[in-house]
Amino acid sequence: MSDFFNKVGLYWQPLGGNNIDQISGHCYRYTDLCQLKNNKLAPTTIIVDLGKFDNYPAFNIKNSVAAVPDIRHLLGKAPDCAKAIFLTHSHPDHLNGIIHYIKAGYNLPNLYAGKYTFMILEDLYKLFQIPKTRRPAQIEIRPGDKVKIGSMEIEVISSSHTCFDSFGFIIKSKSATIYHTGDIKIDQSTYFRKPTDLKRIKELAGEINYIVADFYGIYDDGFAVKEVTTYKKLVQILKKHNKPKIFLPVYPTHTEMYIIAFLAALKLKKNVVFFGNPDFYGYLKLIQKYGIDFNKMAKNRIKVIYSHDKDEIATLDNNYVVIGTYNHVSNAFEATKDNCFGIITAKTFFNPLKGQLNAHNIKFVSVDDFPELQGFGHGFWGDMEYLHLLAPWAKFIPTHTPQFVINNVRELAAFSHMDIIAPTPQNNQIWRLQKNSCELVSSMPAKWLIAVENSGNYHFTEVFQKATSGLGFLKRTISNRRCLRRFKMYLHWRKNPLKPKLK
Ligand SMILES: [Zn+2]
Repeated sequence: MSDFFNKVGLYWQPLGGNNIDQISGHCYRYTDLCQLKNNKLAPTTIIVDLGKFDNYPAFNIKNSVAAVPDIRHLLGKAPDCAKAIFLTHSHPDHLNGIIHYIKAGYNLPNLYAGKYTFMILEDLYKLFQIPKTRRPAQIEIRPGDKVKIGSMEIEVISSSHTCFDSFGFIIKSKSATIYHTGDIKIDQSTYFRKPTDLKRIKELAGEINYIVADFYGIYDDGFAVKEVTTYKKLVQILKKHNKPKIFLPVYPTHTEMYIIAFLAALKLKKNVVFFGNPDFYGYLKLIQKYGIDFNKMAKNRIKVIYSHDKDEIATLDNNYVVIGTYNHVSNAFEATKDNCFGIITAKTFFNPLKGQLNAHNIKFVSVDDFPELQGFGHGFWGDMEYLHLLAPWAKFIPTHTPQFVINNVRELAAFSHMDIIAPTPQNNQIWRLQKNSCELVSSMPAKWLIAVENSGNYHFTEVFQKATSGLGFLKRTISNRRCLRRFKMYLHWRKNPLKPKLK
């Protein structure tokens, strides 16, 4: 065990999640060091999430297929190695590292996750041809469950996010209690799963010393978009642009939008064509397997079809909404400018489709016109403040965000009396947390492991983490300057609440 683990405490180490400039590849380590009766110290380690870093092409490594956080020092049978991996939810930036570690020949500890997360993982195992003998043991968890691992207890809390079974964890040890939120917004309106359990967080508020928070509050003041707001906006637009055929593309991993779009069509008695790429149909199948029955919801009020078949589509009497992931206007719809309208629910993902709609002279609205069209699963600044109100004594440990965002928000946070740990946490640091104090005990440069596949040989290559937002295919991260400007603006509004907001 390393030298800095020489005192009782709950140690926290971000391995991916407190990145330099991207929001991707999440993974956090918790080690509790407690004192036994014979005065010896005994460690218990768990890992929360093992995601994939999206922008690995920016490292320019030949034959690279992924990048993942480095947890190699936590794998094995030594006493301080991880006893379990807890998964907050099924999105690739929290889950897909599992696959690459197994492919590279590592044995992983037991996995704890929700039913839907395991369904997605099962699909990944099949896709990557991982035999049953190589898969770690799975333990399904539900909100309210309490799991004992060594000297820690982990309680599962439901979280509002864009997929089924998204969880936060209350991690309790003698040294400290931490609320690890996972991806979260406060929104209590939901059509398909349990929302963030505010009641339980409030009950535990006196015990929670730290909130390791999904601090995605870059884009907006106030609360993240509510599901009910997205639904109402869709209904309103469908009513206003009442064309026979409506194109309503949805982002493949965002389950909530499949259901919200369907309910909006149902409300206005428009038939539904589920139409899209293999990814979309894959997720749609899982949603149905999970228990969502679109035909039952339709109750014969509308027809629902699941194919590209022109003849079948023709039976819908030119009254339908095309829900799915697609970037072209298929011939199957006989689309013209007079009989169609488009509603684009993601920022850049559907740019090719917008081009096609333009080419056909088909009118559409997009998230640029109505930001609430895009379902959103992360907390804005208002969501963070709400958590702070619920648990006012807890110190905040922001994660899931570039470091500069945390640096830039400090002034605004201080104004709201939010206590954010300092200095700003970075990947691979180790922090010792106790009820009344926290200290940084190690600060080594962080690495990604690049998974390289070369004629059947699969291995990891180390690279030091560096800024990548200007490189590769992912350029979605807000710039440092723009981020600082926004936070300054919000602070100004807070200090001058009676002055009108300038747009
Ligand atoms: Zn997510």
